[in-house]
Amino acid sequence: MTNLDYEVIVIGAGVGGIYQIKRLVDLGIKATVLELGGDLGGTWYWNRYPGARFDSESYTYGYSFSKEVLEEWHWKERFSGQPENLRYLNFVADKFDLRKHMQFNVRVEAMHFDDAETLWRLKLSDGRTLSCRFVIMTTGLLSQPTLPRLEGIDSFKGRSFHTYYWPQEHVDLRGKKVAVIGGGATAIQVIGEIADKVGDLTVFQRRPNWSAPLNNSPISEEEMADIRKRYDEIFAACARSPGGFVHEPDRRGFYDVSREERLKLWDKLYDEPGFGIWLANFKEIFMDEAANAEISDYIAERIRRRVKDPKVAEKLIPRDHGFGIQRVPMETRYFEAFNQPNVHLVDLRETPLERVTEKGLRTTEREYAFDIIVYATGFDAITGAFDHIDIRGTGGQTLRDKWRDSCSTFLGMMVHGFPNMLMPAGPQSGSASTNYPRGIETGVDWCTEFLKRVRAEGQTRFEATAEAEKRWTDHVVGMYSMMLMRKAKGWFTGYNSNVAGHEEGKVRYFVYNGGAPKYVDRISQVAQKDYEGVVRARA
Ligand code: NAP
Repeated sequence: MTNLDYEVIVIGAGVGGIYQIKRLVDLGIKATVLELGGDLGGTWYWNRYPGARFDSESYTYGYSFSKEVLEEWHWKERFSGQPENLRYLNFVADKFDLRKHMQFNVRVEAMHFDDAETLWRLKLSDGRTLSCRFVIMTTGLLSQPTLPRLEGIDSFKGRSFHTYYWPQEHVDLRGKKVAVIGGGATAIQVIGEIADKVGDLTVFQRRPNWSAPLNNSPISEEEMADIRKRYDEIFAACARSPGGFVHEPDRRGFYDVSREERLKLWDKLYDEPGFGIWLANFKEIFMDEAANAEISDYIAERIRRRVKDPKVAEKLIPRDHGFGIQRVPMETRYFEAFNQPNVHLVDLRETPLERVTEKGLRTTEREYAFDIIVYATGFDAITGAFDHIDIRGTGGQTLRDKWRDSCSTFLGMMVHGFPNMLMPAGPQSGSASTNYPRGIETGVDWCTEFLKRVRAEGQTRFEATAEAEKRWTDHVVGMYSMMLMRKAKGWFTGYNSNVAGHEEGKVRYFVYNGGAPKYVDRISQVAQKDYEGVVRARA
């Protein structure tokens, strides 16, 4: 140990890295967190765009590990916004004095495994090289924003930014001509929020997404007092539900109830807060084409009722995938925004974008002039953060090459050929598809208990076997065949038109579809069988 800079290096100081360093510090392990951002918070540090907020109920998103934090923190809104979420993460980090274990403004450029010495060497953007025995990747699922590959993107004379890099200082939108490119969850939040604050807003949409009302509201002192009393019950409900949310699927069969009863349920859920309309629905909507078509028609009808111009309404209704087969963006005043005279919709399927100009954007039809262009164009998701670091395992193989066509992991937490590396929320882990912090706590706890065992037994090296990795990856891939999700072109399946090799929408097996309870069961069994599938050794 003496010649190592740290025993453990954690990469990323977001929701995952904060909890991970807490667990390591509690064990007295010499560890540090390296973070690219100027401060902690990850997603909630970067995404400062107007309208950025949870789609999880706030009180299910917070950490559950500390009774004190649960007692002391007051969530002010049912779906809390970015500034408050960042304050929360700072509150937790400061409470446990974690900031002193974090280093900011450092990019990990490369990490190479030295098999002879059994250690990782990390090359940092500030010129340093650090060594450690173990690396824990908490780099986030959506932390590599992608811009369109458009000619002239640097020639625009106004202001432009990806939503992820929305400036920290106030951006004055009053009277401005603003463009938003995108139709995903981010665009849907930003459009609903800024439509009545800008002079003029033009939305450039290629494929619409299904979305449903968030129905946000404040949380009073009395309600918060009640929530505090029910935290055990709330977290137990999250642990039972496939997505780690408070919403549990309707246990009745879709076809066991009449159409009238289905409509009654949907009318109720549509007007209730949060993901109910998606996750408290019938299970069949995720697997059965006819059931999915019926709920999709229902949601389309709700959109038609809200958008005054029928032509605009039809453009906002997706045709290439059904409702809920990918994560549903939650909206506030989104559809109503298109009823305002200052809001315009450009359908890029009719008139594709050709280039960015000095003044704005040019489609095949005409040029549009803007003061501000907002790119809500998504992320190189799930594996992107790994691909952006030159990660080399045994024999110098790169992780980028290993995962070029899809990915393969053991439990979503280890990779064969990349010893001593853990991913509490890696590709193919339960966290990638759930209410993130619920999955993160599961992943961090499992990884920490595993490291405790390794250290207690005096081992210095661990690696998942190729067979264990294959078994897990086959299990993950097998579950895709049951889900309509495999037919959706989105970040969940590895599609991104702006990333070379990801444009076609060839399915990448990124996500564990079995639900949180099954995932927890599987990883617990591995731990109970003394981490079967992982070879551990002393130096
Ligand atoms: P996204 O879902 O990947 O959406 C990106 C959008 O940009 C798509 O509509 C895409 O159109 C469009 N786009 C990309 N490149 C384009 C181009 N060159 N020209 C025209 N349009 C282009 O990304 P996101 O909206 O940032 O959301 C990602 C995920 O973040 C969400 O699914 C969610 O999990 C998470 N999120 C959560 C919340 C929350 O409420 N907590 C809020 C925001 C985001 P195509 O589909 O046609 O490619």
